[in-house]
Amino acid sequence: MAEAIQEAIKGQEAYRKSLSDNAENLSRSTYVPADAQLRKNLEGLQHLGGYVLTNPTGQKIRVDSMGDGHWGTSREGGKRRHKGIDLSTVVGQPILCPIDGRVMNLKGDNGRIPMLIIYPTIPNPHYDRIEILYTGMLEGVNSGEYRDISVGEPIGIALDLEKVKKKKYKGVPPHAHIQMFKDGECIDPTQFFREINK
Ligand SMILES: [Zn+2]
Repeated sequence: MAEAIQEAIKGQEAYRKSLSDNAENLSRSTYVPADAQLRKNLEGLQHLGGYVLTNPTGQKIRVDSMGDGHWGTSREGGKRRHKGIDLSTVVGQPILCPIDGRVMNLKGDNGRIPMLIIYPTIPNPHYDRIEILYTGMLEGVNSGEYRDISVGEPIGIALDLEKVKKKKYKGVPPHAHIQMFKDGECIDPTQFFREINK
């Protein structure tokens, strides 16, 4: 298991590197090594209309025998649509903050689902809230308290869905459910991430 978590972290680093390279392609006038410039570049991307967010798991959208994690796919035999995207996780891996934001851990769905709520530090014309479900708390964090977090910093831990809801999620592979809102409406998160389709 520890190895799998290491692999997941490596994936996150590769993803952040690719974002950083993209940022450099966008502004080639001053080249600075990726690591030193990473945060600045990510912020730069955010300022470009907020279209590229850091992938909180570093992995792709799940498609497995228990469900299709893409936006708008069928749930409960067609009774409802999937109002978010499911990014695969390895249980125990860090969940990264997709933006510079005010972050809070809490339990949604009447206290049953551990989750994160994130409001952008810099007002964004495209979305005003991000939620990440099935995420446990980091050590020393209190539920229900806001804190300011930089993009790319860990904000939670990927949980085992079978432990979150024993019966309902039996056999469901671990993932983080990402949902985004604008003026109270659920919007498609797919457009804000890169390289998340298998
Ligand atoms: Zn989902």
